[in-house]
Amino acid sequence: MRDLASLPKAHLHLHFTGSMRPQTLADMAQARGVRLPGALLDPDGQVTRPPVDERGWFRFQRLYDAARACVRSEADMRRIVAEAAADDAAEGSGRLEIQVDPTSYAPFVGGITPALEIVLDEARAASALTGVEVGVVVASSRVRHPLEARTLARLAVRYAGDGPGEVVGFGLSNDERRGTTADWAPAFAIARRAGLASVPHGGELLGAEHVTEVLDHLAPDRLGHGVRSAEDRHVLDDVVRRGVALEVCPASNVSLGVYAEDHHVPLRTLTDAGATLALGADDPLLFGSRLVEQYEVARRVHGFSDAELAELARGSVRASRAGEATRRRLLAGVDAWLARPEQPARPAP
Ligand SMILES: [Zn+2]
Repeated sequence: MRDLASLPKAHLHLHFTGSMRPQTLADMAQARGVRLPGALLDPDGQVTRPPVDERGWFRFQRLYDAARACVRSEADMRRIVAEAAADDAAEGSGRLEIQVDPTSYAPFVGGITPALEIVLDEARAASALTGVEVGVVVASSRVRHPLEARTLARLAVRYAGDGPGEVVGFGLSNDERRGTTADWAPAFAIARRAGLASVPHGGELLGAEHVTEVLDHLAPDRLGHGVRSAEDRHVLDDVVRRGVALEVCPASNVSLGVYAEDHHVPLRTLTDAGATLALGADDPLLFGSRLVEQYEVARRVHGFSDAELAELARGSVRASRAGEATRRRLLAGVDAWLARPEQPARPAP
């Protein structure tokens, strides 16, 4: 049993607000005099993950909005990026591509341009401090007008690059059931022409036909989730044939009720079909588990061997937008991890 926190990997699916540590949310809520919803608090009033027996998107979205409403200053934004990088560093991530919709924070910092620049600047600083390269995905939202997404895409391309503190991709998040996917195609075309990765969400709340819709209209390099492509062999084969990597977030799937149990997440179906996977935590604040725990689930629940876990980590690195030198370094680190002798399992306490 090799230590999964020391397995080098890339983290490609993490949302800005959702990355927050519980204590950070508690501090921000207190500073603003905001009362957090009861579902986010334990009996002692401490911020905790919501109970897993109450599931569903709308509840998730309500809690996410409540957390986001506590983020109201440049200092708040910088703290979130800095802590996300520090937490990734502790989990063996060498490359983080964090998603942010600057629209949400624009009112507090003077517009979407400063909002994005704050995140990029802190991403650069955090990269230097932690050694985790932090790139940024600018995410548009399905609950806003597609014309706004074009404005965001134009903003994103001004900061395009593969390095720390640069915009590496363009996303589309929020409720998959909202809007018509094709309406976002012009925004993704703007992003793609500038060399940004296309990384929309798709195929989590909706099934395989939604995956096809996203493939056809948004030409993704990676799909946020995409797990439900497993429901249709032709669609899954199409994902593999097109070389689209899947950012799979097992804790998210189960917390949102997409699958009832951990073992229902079709990790094996996806890897057996030859799909490239990059495990991600999505929103650790609300789903209660961070990056390493997604790999733990692959090991414990799905029976992935260390060689298979190493292959998952390689997939995450290959699917990232990291430059050649970083990829080589992380992939060599994966090989070194696997070459280490296994640790004997710790005796039960
Ligand atoms: Zn997500």
